Amino acid sequence: PQPNPDAGAAVKAADRAHVFHSWSAQELIDPLAVAGAEGSYFWDYDGTRYLDFTSGLVFTNIGYQHPKVVAAIQEQAGTLTTFAPAFAIEARSEAARLIAERTPGDLDKIFFTNGGADAIEHAVRMARLHTGRPKVLSAYRSYHGGTQQAINVTGDPRRWPSDSGTAGVVHFWTPFLYRSRFYAETEEQECARALEHLETTIAFEGPGTIAAIVLETIPGTAGIMVPPPGYLAGVRELCDKYGIVFVLDEVMAGFGRTGEWFAADLFGVVPDLMTFAKGVNSGYVPLGGVAVSGRIAETFGKRPYPGGLTYSGHPLACAAAVATINVMEEEGIVANAKRLGAAVVEPGLRELAARHPSVGEVRGVGMFWALDLVKDRETREPLVPYNAAGEANAPMAAFGAAARQHGLWPFINMNRSHVVPPCNVSEAELKEGLAALDAALSVADTYTE
Ligand code: PLP
Repeated sequence: PQPNPDAGAAVKAADRAHVFHSWSAQELIDPLAVAGAEGSYFWDYDGTRYLDFTSGLVFTNIGYQHPKVVAAIQEQAGTLTTFAPAFAIEARSEAARLIAERTPGDLDKIFFTNGGADAIEHAVRMARLHTGRPKVLSAYRSYHGGTQQAINVTGDPRRWPSDSGTAGVVHFWTPFLYRSRFYAETEEQECARALEHLETTIAFEGPGTIAAIVLETIPGTAGIMVPPPGYLAGVRELCDKYGIVFVLDEVMAGFGRTGEWFAADLFGVVPDLMTFAKGVNSGYVPLGGVAVSGRIAETFGKRPYPGGLTYSGHPLACAAAVATINVMEEEGIVANAKRLGAAVVEPGLRELAARHPSVGEVRGVGMFWALDLVKDRETREPLVPYNAAGEANAPMAAFGAAARQHGLWPFINMNRSHVVPPCNVSEAELKEGLAALDAALSVADTYTE
């Protein structure tokens, strides 16, 4: 990349003058002006290049600017850039076919949205109408999107300012042995007690009032906690027992991230509704959706589904999905995530954990990993408090700055750094990123006790 600091300064000035950013105090942020990106890297206008271990917001599963997907978007733009949702359009039909062929079980009907949050909105609406019940159960350790219903389904603190007494959401605890809420010492205990807690929650809320249980198959932003064997199957059983719709949110975990097409494939579980977005087309054009089971599709067979979007199944977004899925197949990208996750990322992170006292736990699967950073390995006290800001968050800020100084753009949430590079990352890139993490963890270590 050719440095062009003047152009970067102009981009930054216009941003600061007119762009209102997500989740931010507008006067306290300093966004990096990005000049370009390719594969696993992006660069700024000074010519500084970063290895992207965040995949954007965990969505560029095939990296930036994949030439085949860029060409498919250009071709679709030249043929039919846009069209209203009520018509049958080739790119939309083909995207739905390719997705339905890969979703588990009988999730064969695809309702397209513009992203993940609106997929959750519609999944919850479908569940309420299908069951005639009002409530939704979801996990405290979760993120499901920024719109009103989705942010209420969310468990993390981003919900608090938008909490609505009318959203009908009840939160519960999901299994996470490292920080067990159930005083468990083994995964078996954690699993059994988490299921017992869920069944008790259902009983006390009233089974006849609960439309849906919404879970991320593997909670993403909340910390990449792979559920213990049997947990999701147990939730499936409880849903069947009480007539509750089981919604799995695969917005982050889906489309290759875990080394399978969907994380549900790791557990052999089939939900009634499954939400997706992000990796479906690597985020090249906004797209999300709900994969709908036969039983729920039937509910809306003769009775209209009361919901829709102007851009449902937008041709450009769907053409990008078709090209992305085909590229993932042709280039073995899902298998790459599985193979390099097991052969390079897991051993690499465990080796770092052995040398750095700030690493409390390493967990994950495929290209979906978390480093849980702690002040003290014995007490497992997080390196920064829950939802820390400002000075209290200094250790994580210092960790992030050190990673960037070493050419790595890290994903940071609370006391965790997530290792979530593109699923087609190379072994050499992973080793480069692990070396930068090694340096950044040396800075985190200075805050341990
Ligand atoms: N669900 C999960 C699991 C997510 O990780 C996200 C976004 O990070 C969403 C839903 C919301 O998706 P979007 O930001 O596209 O609305």
